[in-house]
Amino acid sequence: MFQDTAYCMVRQATVRIAWTELPIHDGQATLPDSPVPVCLDFGDACPVRRCPTFQVPRTVMACWVARAGLGAGRLLVRRDRCSACGKVAELQEIDAGALYCPACGNIATPAEKLPDVSNGTG
Ligand SMILES: [Zn+2]
Repeated sequence: MFQDTAYCMVRQATVRIAWTELPIHDGQATLPDSPVPVCLDFGDACPVRRCPTFQVPRTVMACWVARAGLGAGRLLVRRDRCSACGKVAELQEIDAGALYCPACGNIATPAEKLPDVSNGTG
């Protein structure tokens, strides 16, 4: 993994980046087959919809971070059942309603959305 640094306009600081080859699953055409830059300082401190450093939506960067195996500590982790492989795993939240499954490498959606219903006071 080739490491480098870049200047981040959001943080107004130098961030660490890594060039990493992403595993391609199921021949998904949306992923580049060449190494992509992954921000090693990606996380909660990126309150933007679009990463200015790499000119990609925040969701895409989150996806790259997860697929590169760097999601732990950077992405929100939810222990849930993967809708793709059916296993319960530490799913990493890429976006609202999109969870990366480290077990099968797919982007899964939550099994079901529970509505926030207040059932009266007991
Ligand atoms: Zn899975």
